[in-house]
Amino acid sequence: MLANYHTHTKRCGHASGEDKEYVEAAIQAGLKILGFSDHCPWIFPRKDYVSNMRLAPSEVDGYFYSLESLKKEYERDIKIYIGFETEHCPELLPAQDELLKGYPLDYMIMGQHFLGTEYDSVYTGWKHPEPEVLKGYVDTVIDGIRSGRYLYVAHPDLVNFTGDGQLYREEMRRLCAALKEADIPVEINILGLSEGRQYPAKRFLELAKETGNKAVIGIDAHSPAQLLNAEGIARGQALCREYGLELVDGDLLEK
Ligand SMILES: [Zn+2]
Ligand SMILES: [Zn+2]
Repeated sequence: MLANYHTHTKRCGHASGEDKEYVEAAIQAGLKILGFSDHCPWIFPRKDYVSNMRLAPSEVDGYFYSLESLKKEYERDIKIYIGFETEHCPELLPAQDELLKGYPLDYMIMGQHFLGTEYDSVYTGWKHPEPEVLKGYVDTVIDGIRSGRYLYVAHPDLVNFTGDGQLYREEMRRLCAALKEADIPVEINILGLSEGRQYPAKRFLELAKETGNKAVIGIDAHSPAQLLNAEGIARGQALCREYGLELVDGDLLEK
């Protein structure tokens, strides 16, 4: 494996280790490209609300400063890209763009953890039998894909729909088709795979196979050690073979 674009830092509040340790672990793992994509801050309309799962807006400066320094320090060993993982929340995007303006941002990935704003919508990863949650998720992710803002979609199969299987297939087929149309690979999320979460979901990979999607391995590292999870990565690669998904690896930003 040459590249991983899904890496967090301790600033999000649920990851551990120093930035430098992530870089050194990536080099040890043999990666040639390391993309940082910590949970992007939002400027929330509710000023009294503080998220406990993402950077605070005030941490953006330190994030770029630290990663830019590491980029230079390790330029002979590894290529570092600086990005964020974010939900696609159209009404909050202008403020997000304003916040990130002027920083050397290389890319964004979309991880639709919430249907809307974090404090007044549902976490899509919980079990949901309601068709509206599934449809809302798929509509929003497709919107995001078509916006052209994102390198790829993190754990596209995060939505944990427990209702009608036929409806799941219809909706998620729409998502697979939108990914294919935009030439965006399906992420095989190694953290979810290693922790036995609902993603990567075999029922989703079946649809990706049918649609002819490509795939990308995303480690979703929340600790430096997770970058060295060779067994998890091998399992992810085996899933791609099993479902006939062509694996995309290397520099996705140099198109
Ligand atoms: Zn996280
Ligand atoms: Zn992530």
